[in-house]
Amino acid sequence: MATADVLKPDFQAKRKHFIFTDEHEQLRESIRAFVTKELAPHANEWEETTFPDSVIHRMGELGFLGLDKPEAYGGQGGDYYTALVLAEEMTGSNSGGLAMGVAVHTDMAMPPILAFGTEEQKREWVEPAIKGEKILCIGITEPDAGSDVKGIKTRAVRDGSDYVINGSKTYITNGHRADVIVLVTKTDADAGYDGFTLFLVPMDAPGVIREKKLEKLGMHSSDTALLAFQDVRVPETAVLGQVGKGFYHIMWELQGERLIGAAGSVAGAQKCFDRTLQYAKERKAFGREIGKFQVIRHKFAEMATKIETARQMVYMTAWRFQNGEYPVREISMAKLHASRMAVEVADECIQIHGGAGYMKEYGVERAWRDSRLNRIGAGTDEIMLDVIGRSFGL
Ligand SMILES: Cc1cc2nc3c(=O)[nH]c(=O)nc-3n(C[C@H](O)[C@H](O)[C@H](O)COP(=O)(O)OP(=O)(O)OC[C@H]3O[C@@H](n4cnc5c(N)ncnc54)[C@H](O)[C@@H]3O)c2cc1C
Repeated sequence: MATADVLKPDFQAKRKHFIFTDEHEQLRESIRAFVTKELAPHANEWEETTFPDSVIHRMGELGFLGLDKPEAYGGQGGDYYTALVLAEEMTGSNSGGLAMGVAVHTDMAMPPILAFGTEEQKREWVEPAIKGEKILCIGITEPDAGSDVKGIKTRAVRDGSDYVINGSKTYITNGHRADVIVLVTKTDADAGYDGFTLFLVPMDAPGVIREKKLEKLGMHSSDTALLAFQDVRVPETAVLGQVGKGFYHIMWELQGERLIGAAGSVAGAQKCFDRTLQYAKERKAFGREIGKFQVIRHKFAEMATKIETARQMVYMTAWRFQNGEYPVREISMAKLHASRMAVEVADECIQIHGGAGYMKEYGVERAWRDSRLNRIGAGTDEIMLDVIGRSFGL
C-alpha cells in the first residue's frame, strides 16, 4: 500500500471513553485535586483511627455528594457517569475504607430514599445528606442472614399508628457515625417476598444500640458496626416506600451498589497497576530493571488486559443504566468480574514487589486487603454467579 505516512502505535495517547464528555473530565480533575490534597495525605492515619466525619462535611461543601442527584434537593443534577467519576477518583485517597464509606452514603443509602421516599423524607434526609450535614447507612445483613436476605429476622410490628422494631444488623458500614439507617425489616413473616418493609430509622432513636466496632482484614479507615434494635418505636411516616415491597426495593438498590462497586474495583486495580509499574521500572535485579524480565512484562500484560476488560464491562453497563435499562445480568457480571480481577491484580502486584509488597509502606498489601472485600460485600461471587445463571432460566 502506497502511503507517505508511517502509522505508529499511539501507546501514550490519553484515551477518553465515549461515555465521558469534557465536563466529566473537568469534574474528574477537580475531584482528583481535592482527593490528592485533602484526603490522600491522611490515608495512613485514618487506617488507625477511621476517617473523620469532617470528610463527609467537606465533600458536601464541595458539591461532591450529590453529583447525579436532583437539583431540587441540592444535587448537581448530573448523569450517572458523574457518580462513576467520583467512585473512580476516590481510589486516589489510597483508602478503600474511605471510598466505601462515601459510596455507602451517596450510592447505597441515598438512592432508595430518592426513589421510594416521600417529599418529607427527601427533605429531611437527602437534602442534608447532600450537604454533608447528615450521614447515611444501610442495614440489610444480620448475624444469621447475609446472602439469604429472605431469612432476615428483624421485625417491625404495627402498634397503633407506630411500628415497633426489634432485631439486629451486622457489618454495617458507617453504622457508628450515621444519623439515619435505611433498615430492611420483615412486617409479615408469612407473606414471603411480599412481607418486607424498609424504614428510615434515626440512629438516635431510643432502643437503637451501636453495639460494637468490628475489626476487619482491610478497609480499616471505615467503621463497621454491629447494631441492635430493641423496641424501637417509629411513626408510620418512617416507612420508606411501600409496606410489603421492601424486598423488591432493596434488590433494586443492590444493582446500583454493585455497579458502583465494580467501578471502584477497576479504578483501584488501575492504581495498584500504575504504582507497581513504576516500581518495576526502578527496581533492579540481576543487573536489569525487573520489568524487563519477560515473565514480569507478561504479568503486566495480563493485568492490563484484565483491567481493560473489566473497565469496558463497567462502562458499557453504566451506559445501559444511564439509558434507562435495568441490566441486572450485566451488572452482576461486571461486579463479579471486576472484583475478582481487582484481587488478582493486587495479588500479582504484591508478587512483583517481592518482599516490599508484603510491607505496609508500599501500599499494595493494603490494596489487596481492601479489594478482597468486594468479592463478598454487596453480594458474594457465588450469589453473582447464581443471579447470572438463573437469568438464563436455569
Ligand atoms: C466490611 C464489610 C462491610 C459491609 N457493609 C455492609 C453494609 O453497610 N450494609 C449491609 O447490610 N451489609 C454489609 N456487609 C455485609 C455483606 O453484604 C455480606 O457479608 C454479604 O452479603 C455476605 O453475607 P454473609 O456474610 O452473611 O455470608 P453468607 O451469606 O453466610 O455466605 C457464606 C458463604 O456461603 C455462600 N453462599 C451463601 N448462599 C449461597 C448460595 N445460595 N449459593 C452458593 N453459595 C452461597 C456465600 O457465597 C459465602 O461464600 C458488609 C460486609 C463487610 C465484610
